[in-house]
Amino acid sequence: MLNQLKQTADAKLTEAEERLASTGSSSSKRSIDLTLPGRRSFTGSEHPVQKVPGEMKSIFLDKKVSFADLKATIYSFAKQMFGTDVKLRFRPSFFPFTEPSAEVDVTCYLCGGKGCKVCKKSGWLEIMGCGMVHPNVLRNCGIDPEEWSGYAFGMGVDRTVLLRYKIDDIRLLFENDLRMLRQFGA
Ligand SMILES: [Zn+2]
Repeated sequence: MLNQLKQTADAKLTEAEERLASTGSSSSKRSIDLTLPGRRSFTGSEHPVQKVPGEMKSIFLDKKVSFADLKATIYSFAKQMFGTDVKLRFRPSFFPFTEPSAEVDVTCYLCGGKGCKVCKKSGWLEIMGCGMVHPNVLRNCGIDPEEWSGYAFGMGVDRTVLLRYKIDDIRLLFENDLRMLRQFGA
């Protein structure tokens, strides 16, 4: 998925450079704002569902983008997806293409944060990984990290659906049971 992200970012950059070359101006350089939904294979797993988890990756690059912008974006997403009462927790983490990096948790939909079997007594459920795009990633794409910065985040689509609709078994999403699907207007 990250290779795909880089290829798409490269394509966008090339497109932007060609546009700049045709106008003869460097002042109109634009930001990059991509969201890429898709599926990826899950090596090492025998479970048929886990082989094709749905994922969504997003990246945003512009001038003077900070971690505060990343947090504001994720808070906005979480409130629209899970409701205005949702609480978020950012935990420092490591990903090779972002620095700093964090994993984001929301309050457990079953116990409301008190601790239960689903959240392993923690009261929190992880929803995504995120971080500021590493300067070396920008350099490798021909983008000056002194001038440009940005953030990226990625989440499992299926897992997000489970959390939003309080579904306790992921297999229900793949069984094509009309009684299940009709609850969502299908
Ligand atoms: Zn819980």
